[in-house]
Amino acid sequence: MHIKNHFLLGLLLATFLWFTQKTDLKDLILLVQSTVLIDMDHFIIYIRQKKRFSLGHYIKEQRHYLKLQKPRFYMFHKIEIVLLLFLLSSFLPVLKFVSIGVAFHIFLDMLIYVRHHRSLRRMRTYSYLHDIYCGIRRVPAY
Ligand SMILES: [Zn+2]
Repeated sequence: MHIKNHFLLGLLLATFLWFTQKTDLKDLILLVQSTVLIDMDHFIIYIRQKKRFSLGHYIKEQRHYLKLQKPRFYMFHKIEIVLLLFLLSSFLPVLKFVSIGVAFHIFLDMLIYVRHHRSLRRMRTYSYLHDIYCGIRRVPAY
């Protein structure tokens, strides 16, 4: 899903929580930020593969990639990250909204994959455990 849509849908979720829950504004801002910033792993992979640090070039290539929706490995798009953030929120409550934002982002990405491929078969993995037991899919060249 395009980063702009993640931002808008994150904003929509935050607005919903604002009106339905007694939620602090700074927590909701954090939620929206986390729905967007989780995609930094796409950029990290791009830098690693291309050996190039160009946000403009990355954005151009990302548009092409989003049309194909090929499965790839992304280190932050994992359910274990959400669980870790949620567990850590017991000690650091602000992480609760980060975990909600990350979970929401992953959920939206999964919806887009299923909608695009009309199947769960080509779904990229969203679990490190799955990667370990089933093997990490090779990351296609950018
Ligand atoms: Zn994503």
